[in-house]
Amino acid sequence: MVSRVIPVDPFDLVIFGGTGDLARRKILPALFRRYCAGQWPEDVRIIGAARSEHDDSAYRALVADALREFAPERAKDSPSVDGFLARVSYVRIDAEEQAGWAELAGQLTEDRVRAFYFSVGPRLFGALAGQIEAHGMVTDRTRIVVEKPFGHDLQSARDLNATLAGHFDEGQIYRIDHYLGKETVQNLMAVRFGNMLFEPLWNSQYVDHIQITVAETVGIAGREGYYDRAGAMRDMMQNHLMQLLCLIAMEPPAKFDPDAVRDEKLKVIRALDQVQPHHIVRGQYGPSDGEPDYRGAVGNPRSATESYIALRAHISNWRWAGTPFYLRTGKRLVARSSVINVMFKDAPHSIFGADAGRHANVLSIRLQPNEGITLKVTIKEPGPGGMRLIDVPLDMSFAEALGPENQDPPDAYERLIMDVIRGNQTLFMRGDEVEAAWAWTDPIIAGWQARGDVPKPYDSGSTGPGDAELLMKRDGRHWQGIKP
Ligand code: NAD
Repeated sequence: MVSRVIPVDPFDLVIFGGTGDLARRKILPALFRRYCAGQWPEDVRIIGAARSEHDDSAYRALVADALREFAPERAKDSPSVDGFLARVSYVRIDAEEQAGWAELAGQLTEDRVRAFYFSVGPRLFGALAGQIEAHGMVTDRTRIVVEKPFGHDLQSARDLNATLAGHFDEGQIYRIDHYLGKETVQNLMAVRFGNMLFEPLWNSQYVDHIQITVAETVGIAGREGYYDRAGAMRDMMQNHLMQLLCLIAMEPPAKFDPDAVRDEKLKVIRALDQVQPHHIVRGQYGPSDGEPDYRGAVGNPRSATESYIALRAHISNWRWAGTPFYLRTGKRLVARSSVINVMFKDAPHSIFGADAGRHANVLSIRLQPNEGITLKVTIKEPGPGGMRLIDVPLDMSFAEALGPENQDPPDAYERLIMDVIRGNQTLFMRGDEVEAAWAWTDPIIAGWQARGDVPKPYDSGSTGPGDAELLMKRDGRHWQGIKP
């Protein structure tokens, strides 16, 4: 079964910050893969726009290097690389100066989708938005894509929303969270709302608790300044984990349309209780293999910023009253693994007696690595000698079920950028969602600051601070392993 490629209309895409790390690692390789997949018409235009001095050919050389480094398999095919580069050009602009803007406006094609990707720090969002409007580049078919971090707290997110709203309608603003572009995340919605099997059980009567883990092996190298001001709560919990929580907990939208889905997600965030301080564990990683510990990395021996956070959240509504949601994320952990585990309750009575042990179904939605969905079910252990029960996985991994050609689904950025071109905002955060997430986050952070809370140290290469295990143990539960 080969996945279908649905062609998109011609478009112009301007990448502000087109020479930066995100453009090189993610945006340009994603565009290149879609080009190779044959999704575009001939005359698509990709325009890099940034502060550094380049002409078209120097920028194309930079893009070619990025493709070789970050899309090496496809970039082996020289005609594809040449075909892609033929669509790429460069304009030098500075968000805060006038030079270059008229030239950029002159390069855009009339009457087609024009997307502006803001791959620059959020400080420049307002200036870019102003320049786009001032140079007459806003049409009905103009869209902007903005990257995280979307604000530092509720007030700054409100300010940013207000700034962008001064130039664009909400329907033109695409706030990207690449977790939502992952194949499995959308599959989560397909599994929930496309099957009869799960939804009747998707509530506190049958679900004991839900775990969401986003574990990373990397530290914070290269992002020290930003990270020490943000920490895991702002950098990961407020956006990525919150979005996953919304999709797992939301009510079925009436239809799969952007506002219907986002309305339901917003209701989840608004129904979140304030998290109790004793339901939060913060940690900072220790040294490893010659690498400094967290405080050494940021050069601040007294830093109280967390590189790990685990917390227990509650959603106060009919569906989820009484079902805890345990969320954790951290750097320098034992494995890179993002997974949601829906832990169903034990059967109410075991007809097999105490020796059969306790068994509960677990639905695991793996975002990375090995994207896929597994349902753990209880069966009889094969062989004679009585009724012994074991748990086996029913595996819905893409490769096995759908064939090897689906083993490598489009990367999140590929899907999301094509959604921008199509004008589909379903997988992008709306302004009110982002603000609601900050409204939940701010008091938690304010509480730490008021109490002078200091994160607990944890070993690099571990599963995080021991207190995170205790958070579960106190409730008679345990985390599912981080290792995939
Ligand atoms: P970067 O520092 O590598 O690149 C910044 C880019 O912005 C460069 O192209 C630079 O020329 C351009 N720029 C800087 N000042 C400018 C100005 N005044 N006018 C015009 N262009 C200017 O940064 P990055 O890592 O590519 O990140 C870009 C944005 O994306 C940031 O907001 C970052 O937080 C966000 N982000 C990055 C990543 C990532 O993996 N790198 C992931 C998520 C979000």
